[in-house]
Amino acid sequence: MSKIRVLADHVANQIAAGEVVERPASVAKELVENSIDAGAQRITIEIEAGGRRLLKVSDDGEGMVRDDAILAFERHATSKIRGTDDLAAIGTLGFRGEALASIASVAKVELTTCTEAAKAATRVTIDGGRMRDVKDAAHPRGTTIIVRDLFFNIPARRKFLRAEATETFHLTNLVTHYALAHPEIAFTFVNNGREVVRAAPAKDLRERAYQIFGEEFLENLLEVNSGDSQVARVTGYVSAPRDRRTSRDAQYLFVNRRFVRDRMIGRSLSEGYRSILPHGVYPAALLFIETPLEEVDVNVHPAKTEVRFRRSAAVADAVREAVRAALASANFVPPPEPPPIPEPTMTATASVSSFIPQPRIEFVPPPTPPPRFEAPVEASGEEIARDLEVMLQSVSKSVSSVLPAPLPPLNSAEKFAREITPESLNANIRPLGQLEESFIIATDDEGLLLIDQHVAHERVLFDKYRALETERRVESQQLLVPETFDLTPAQAAVFDELAPEFENYGFELMRLSGRTVAIKATPADLPSGEARNMLAELLDTVDVEKKSRTRETLRDEIAASLACHAAIKVNMPLAPEKMRWLIDRLLQTSSPTTCPHGRPVILRLSTRDILKGFHRI
Ligand code: ADP
Ligand code: MG
Repeated sequence: MSKIRVLADHVANQIAAGEVVERPASVAKELVENSIDAGAQRITIEIEAGGRRLLKVSDDGEGMVRDDAILAFERHATSKIRGTDDLAAIGTLGFRGEALASIASVAKVELTTCTEAAKAATRVTIDGGRMRDVKDAAHPRGTTIIVRDLFFNIPARRKFLRAEATETFHLTNLVTHYALAHPEIAFTFVNNGREVVRAAPAKDLRERAYQIFGEEFLENLLEVNSGDSQVARVTGYVSAPRDRRTSRDAQYLFVNRRFVRDRMIGRSLSEGYRSILPHGVYPAALLFIETPLEEVDVNVHPAKTEVRFRRSAAVADAVREAVRAALASANFVPPPEPPPIPEPTMTATASVSSFIPQPRIEFVPPPTPPPRFEAPVEASGEEIARDLEVMLQSVSKSVSSVLPAPLPPLNSAEKFAREITPESLNANIRPLGQLEESFIIATDDEGLLLIDQHVAHERVLFDKYRALETERRVESQQLLVPETFDLTPAQAAVFDELAPEFENYGFELMRLSGRTVAIKATPADLPSGEARNMLAELLDTVDVEKKSRTRETLRDEIAASLACHAAIKVNMPLAPEKMRWLIDRLLQTSSPTTCPHGRPVILRLSTRDILKGFHRI
């Protein structure tokens, strides 16, 4: 007997749903894309309980006639392509014809739709893939789909859904993406009955970004426009380097107005900021990449959030250069240099010499490489490394013949001035002065100390805030005039969850209408101008994804951020008494040698190393 069977449709649909429907936000994505494909001018998204209980998308698009409304739920039912030829150039967001079938197989779905010409609207009800009812209904031109109880029939999948705040965050992020990609369409987003986004049709991206993020965000944006190019045209906005974020959450990337998650684009974006943003800090970006349809394959992932470029290196270059040019036109980086003339063949010599630290060879005429340096192109990695070593030796030998003493290795400062361990810390610290108005120079029994004044104060404040919070003795200062500020939709999604925690530290916050928040009081010590920066930063970075995040770590994060914002800054002159005070307080903390973010607070240059340096031992 043969053992191969063709799966029943409802089984196949549930399997497909595993790929298409990952979470409520992926359902919303498919529905919103369908609305856009239907030519909607106005799209409304409503959710309850993070989209698990209810997810409703209404549009005023072209609608469907009754037969189509029923057919739409069949697997591989699509109006967007007809044959494989069409796959080469897809201009619509959908085309696989499996979204509605997949969604309907794992939820309770009600679709009501009406075309311009139809006399009555049609309502189709489907539960877990079974068609329950088709009847007339009232609905203006357009379509409304209500998806209830996602995964009601697949308990295993339901278990994988995250906390309501997490799912809401993803949904908000998704709506924000589509609202940015389609400024001409009006978007409304309602979460548990509260309107979070209401954006009227806008004339361009800038106006839409203003509607969603507010004025302040816009002030920090630089325009990107690569001009026309064969492979990819890059337009949009990136943030000025002063706007720093610790996650990629504020990066909105699109390929042919399709929202994508693409590491390559994110990386090229960061490369554009090379040398002006430190590692681990990300810019905000709204970047649109437009390529001819045949340059990109959107059919590589069921949810279509990944794309494949035919010439991905060229796209990466285009993104990096466009970002770089935007930064250059605002004078953040020097104007781009003409591209280097590519070397026809890579010889071992060429590749090795580019690794030689430049400042050293400036002292001497370029060394003649040893004969075996003319290694053939196929020199192995090991051979090249060995040759490099020989060459470096010959360079430093020639340098030493010119200079009185051999140059110390490049990272010598790090080697001599060491992070100090808690055990070697002693109470006998005497401040002498400041270096660059940022580091306190001091001595102790074992040598010379450099204390980073900002992180030292951060440590002091962190311990203080944590202690006060635990003892429920917060100190706050009332603001004479409450300061108001607007949350971004993503910040609004986590605000209600975090507000009580902020209040434990002495904030008094009040949510006004929509996404506006008033700060009525701030923790003592926190300069009032820092309050809203600090709140915005925490709302942006607190990782709603991290399931393991406990209240304790959240409180630590708040205390650390508070400490950072309230602490003495670098480039600030300190009177001798203030230095003494800071050192005394630092020594009383739980961990005087590391700051709450894990950076060292004190470096020591030991007396022994000093003696060695002067050749006294
Ligand atoms: P795809 O979008 O890949 O074609 P879907 O399963 O998402 O597949 O939708 C199936 C079909 O249902 C679409 O091709 C379209 O013709 C129709 N449809 C779905 N949603 C809407 C809508 N909001 N308005 C009009 N037609 C729709
Ligand atoms: Mg679709």
